[in-house]
Order: sequence, then C-alpha cells, then structure tokens
Amino acid sequence: MIKVRHLKKVFLTPSGQELTVLRDINCDIHRGEVISVIGPSGTGKSTFLRCLNRLEEPTSGMIEVDGMDILSRKTDISMVRRRMGMVFQNFNLFEHLTILDNVTMCPMILLGKSREEAESRGMALLENVGLHDKAGCLPEELSGGQKQRAAIARCLAMEPDIILFDEPTSALDPTMVSEVLAVIRHLASQGMTMCIVSHEMQFVRDVSTRVLFLYDGVVYEDGTPEQIFDNPQKPVTQAFINRIRTFDVTLADSRFDLYGLMGNIRTFCNKYGVSLRTMEKVEHVTEEMLCQIIPFDAPVRFTVDYSEKTSRIHMVFVLENSRGSILSAVPDDSLSLMMVRGMSDSLSEPEPGRICVVI
Ligand code: ADP
Ligand code: MG
Repeated sequence: MIKVRHLKKVFLTPSGQELTVLRDINCDIHRGEVISVIGPSGTGKSTFLRCLNRLEEPTSGMIEVDGMDILSRKTDISMVRRRMGMVFQNFNLFEHLTILDNVTMCPMILLGKSREEAESRGMALLENVGLHDKAGCLPEELSGGQKQRAAIARCLAMEPDIILFDEPTSALDPTMVSEVLAVIRHLASQGMTMCIVSHEMQFVRDVSTRVLFLYDGVVYEDGTPEQIFDNPQKPVTQAFINRIRTFDVTLADSRFDLYGLMGNIRTFCNKYGVSLRTMEKVEHVTEEMLCQIIPFDAPVRFTVDYSEKTSRIHMVFVLENSRGSILSAVPDDSLSLMMVRGMSDSLSEPEPGRICVVI
C-alpha cells in the first residue's frame, strides 16, 4: 500500500545549519499491517509519519501510495491525505465544536455527506469508542482519554485506508492510557492498517505485525515484535529494548577521588531504581577492584551498565596498555579477589587488562 524509498529529510535550523533527520528510510506497508515505529526521542519518528502524508515536505526520495507517487507535483495531496488519517499527541480537536460536530464536519465538507448521513455514522463511531453520551459536549468537558478517543472517531469518520498515530497516549494521565490503547487494539483486530509511533512497549509488542526501530536516520532494525523485543540483533536496538543505562568514567591514576566516585555510583543506582543490595555489591566490588586488585600503572576506564529489563549490573574495568592478565597476577587466596567473587555472579577477564563483573 505504501512504498518508501531513500526518504531523506533535512531541516534548516534557526541558526542556519542543516540537520539531517532522515537519511535513507526504506520500508513497505501492506494493507492490514500494524506497523509500530520505535526509537529514542529525537530520531525522527514524527518527521517520518509527517512525511508520509506530506505534512512535512521530504527533501528527496520516493513515497508511493497504491502505486501513486505522492511527491510528484501532479498528485493531488489533499486526496492522498483524505485517505490517511492522523491522530496526534495533543488531540487537535476543534475546541469550539461539539464532539459530534468534530466528527461530522469533515465528512460533510470534504466527502459531501448530508448532515443526516454524517450524524448517523458519527453517532455509530462515537458509540464504537464509548462516547455516545458525550456527543453534545465540548472538548473541554472531556478527559484527555475521552478527547483522544473522540479524535480517533473523527479520524475514522473520513473512512481512511490507513491511520497514522503519533504518540497517541504520551500526553495522557497514566490512568487514561489503557482506554485509548483499547480502542486502537480494537481497530487492529478489525484489520485497520495502521502506523503507530509509541513508547508503550507492551502495547507495541501486542498489537504490531511489524516493528521498525528508527535510529541514525535509517530503519536501523525491523522485524516481528518477537524478533525485536526478544532477540534484537544490533547493539543500539539491544540497548534500547533492554533500557540499558550507562555510567562511565576514566580514572587517570590511583589518586582518584574514591568518595566522589562512590557518591556518583550511588546517584546513578538511585536514579534507575537499582536495589539497595545490588548497589552495596557494586560499591564493594568497585572498591576492591580499584584499590586492591588493579595495579593502576596506567589510566583505568570504568563502566557500569544497568539493564532495567533484567535488573543486572555489568561492570567493566579496562586498564590501558595492560602488560598481561590482571587476575592471574593476583594470588587465588587474595581476600579482595575472594570478596569480588562472592559478590558477583560472574567474574572474567576476556582479554588481558579487561575485567568484567556481572552482579
Ligand atoms: P521524534 O519524533 O523521534 O522524537 P522528531 O521527528 O520530532 O523526532 O524530530 C527529529 C529531529 O528533527 C529533532 O532533532 C528535532 O529537533 C528536529 N526537527 C523536527 N522538526 C523540525 C523543524 N520543523 N525544524 C527544525 N528541526 C526540526
Ligand atoms: Mg515525536
């Protein structure tokens, strides 16, 4: 249904610099698919959706909708947009119109429907999203979740072939997220073609037929939800999916500020909700490694990775230009080494001078 090739979008920033947000996007969306687009914020997910219906003008590349080149001057873009509904983060309802008028206005003006026809269909759609008793209300009388459901009904009233959702729940109070997701799930079960940008990972996993991970201006990785969530292949996808948090310092010599470092580790652990027990282990291991085990005749690079998904801490100590294995130079009955072994689930030195500890 939609074919995107070498899509590129360069913005000109207010300071006059070029910002390449989409470098080379390629993808196909087939009828009946539910495609979710995920990725770190600022990677161009919204820009991608907005290019699809030309709310944003692509810099170069090709977008075809049902074989029609929508970037061509000859294409009537309003016809294309009519077939692509869009649901925004902030609902974009007409504030001075009732909910029913919000739903019926476009079908009457753009599709030439009679008021009677538009209203009977509008009421059916409002019923579908659980809002039939709000038809006469103004948007301001509705909660955020209800407004977003009304926006979805308004979108459906135009009988689109595909709906683009740009973070439809991110402006909502957490208690209202599920009612909106339920409506989108229902549409998916009816076979509606949809492209959804969302940070609700469980929902993305449940509802999508395919997931695109956008990063660095390209579709960095794509696959079924199982592939992307259970077995991501590329490092940035893995880090994103596992929500890996990193703490990273280079210590020039053995006179580094141990108390300052411990304070920073504690702040890092508290920020990401690492358990107290794990945090204490991290502190003990850090102290034994840096003050007893590592010879420190060169700078040491120290990294702590915390995966929110697995709740595991990976610590890596790298002694630059190490002249051999650090661990094999330490006596096996060294108290420090025994302590580190006791605290960690795994201790290894995969290459000389690089020690990995998992807690
Ligand atoms: P996402 O939706 O993935 O968070 P966006 O598509 O909103 O990302 O934005 C991607 C990048 O493009 C950001 O760095 C943003 O600041 C920039 N950007 C978006 N719109 C414009 C614009 N109209 N002018 C200049 N820069 C923009
Ligand atoms: Mg966005």
